Amino acid sequence: MHENQEGLSKAIFDKLKEEGCCERCCLRYIGIKDITYYRNLNLINDKFKVVTEDNENEGKPSAPKKTKLTPCIACLDLLRDSEDYKTICKDVEAKGYDAKSFTCALSLPVSLQIREKSVLLFLSRQFPAVYAMNDMPNGFYNYVNLKDAWKWTYGAKIAELLNMKMDFGPIQDFFIEVNITYPDDEKESSCLLKMHADIFERRAKHRYRYGGEIFTRKSVEVALADTTYERFHSHSPCPPAIPTVPVRYAPVTCSQNSLFVAGRYNKYSRTLSQTPWVIDGERRAESSVQELIGENIVKAFKAQGSKFSASGREDVDVRTLGRGRPFAVELLDPHRVNIEPNELRMLQDEINANSLGKISIRDLQIVSKEELCKLKYGEEEKKKRYTALCIALTPPPPGALESLSEKVHDLVLHQKTPIRVLHRRPLVERLRTIHGATAEVIPSRADSDQSVYFVLRLRTQAGTYVKEFVHGDFGRTEPNLRSILGVEVDILALDVEEVELDWPKEVN
Ligand SMILES: [Zn+2]
Repeated sequence: MHENQEGLSKAIFDKLKEEGCCERCCLRYIGIKDITYYRNLNLINDKFKVVTEDNENEGKPSAPKKTKLTPCIACLDLLRDSEDYKTICKDVEAKGYDAKSFTCALSLPVSLQIREKSVLLFLSRQFPAVYAMNDMPNGFYNYVNLKDAWKWTYGAKIAELLNMKMDFGPIQDFFIEVNITYPDDEKESSCLLKMHADIFERRAKHRYRYGGEIFTRKSVEVALADTTYERFHSHSPCPPAIPTVPVRYAPVTCSQNSLFVAGRYNKYSRTLSQTPWVIDGERRAESSVQELIGENIVKAFKAQGSKFSASGREDVDVRTLGRGRPFAVELLDPHRVNIEPNELRMLQDEINANSLGKISIRDLQIVSKEELCKLKYGEEEKKKRYTALCIALTPPPPGALESLSEKVHDLVLHQKTPIRVLHRRPLVERLRTIHGATAEVIPSRADSDQSVYFVLRLRTQAGTYVKEFVHGDFGRTEPNLRSILGVEVDILALDVEEVELDWPKEVN
């Protein structure tokens, strides 16, 4: 039995070789999955007693006729021994990524899909006992696909030259797409238009009108999946025709998964918005918290863009003090990902120095994508502390301010969307809780008017409209400080003192 299999393998090997397959392609159609063979051609030649220039004088049988001068009929020389893989490495290096490992994928011309099918159909005719079994994947013997064979052949070499580790698993953080081009691809793939007019004529018309590809990898895969030998053979050669040119490596495409950087920010300016303030395409403010933080981080990580998010937001005229507000920046396609903690520290100092006292940040750190949910989690539940400078236009009843904490304790407010934000938010009524409040009168400045200034300290549920709680927003927030104190009250300035969210962790 063993000997039979060996003999059969040898027969398949010789047949494919005779038709113009390279050694590695012969190997993969036999279904050999031992990587060492792909890395070392001599092992193949020994195993199958291939006649090479080195041993042809030893009186072995005649050499295969088509393999020396023309490209392989199956892989178009993608698997042939060559130094061309070095261009891939040069390409990648020129892009300046500092990743330590990579995954890679091949983007193949359609011709290679067609040629693969052609070889398999040919084999199912030549060796029906092996290749025409319908219960195997694709109805064929368990052969090795071209992409795997290429990775086994060149993966380690590329990894060594790049000084990175190659991951064979699912897509890792750093991804190299190796693009393969074939000058005769259009000519060779046109057979599909007739072979599968049902699928591709419609796509061709669509392309004429809307652009796009006629032959996508998926559509070709679907079309070829159950193509019979007869149908295939009437439109395309089987086995494949001898090619005149080989495939070539086109420039690679690289991408790095997003990296997430988090921290907390203080905002000391009453004229700075959190995000760029643009109305009808026109900037209304020079900068924003997002830009002051994001632009420096993008530069440091050599990213192609960024997305800023924070745990809630404050109005333009509101400061954020205390430990600050948690934020995160998603860095898109960062070319640098290996940044040491001391470098992050320097980046933080640089951002603080460049923002001219408008903001400052702390606890800058790299976090995982999974951790980001903590920023949004508890958006409703988390608590915030505020300090507001308020004015009562007439003196409140005696003791009213002093006893405020007794009246405002887990007080539930009904808040309709404030008039000031109605232009961008739908009109809804929501419930928010003021957990506690105290008021402290500021001693009179000997003004002749009756106004009373006081500092209001609040602890509220996240999402409470604090300004509206103070002045009532024409009765749209009930109860409010006006109704509680029985006098006209207004708010002059507001600070966020604390966003009670213990994320991200403190950094020393
Ligand atoms: Zn080949």
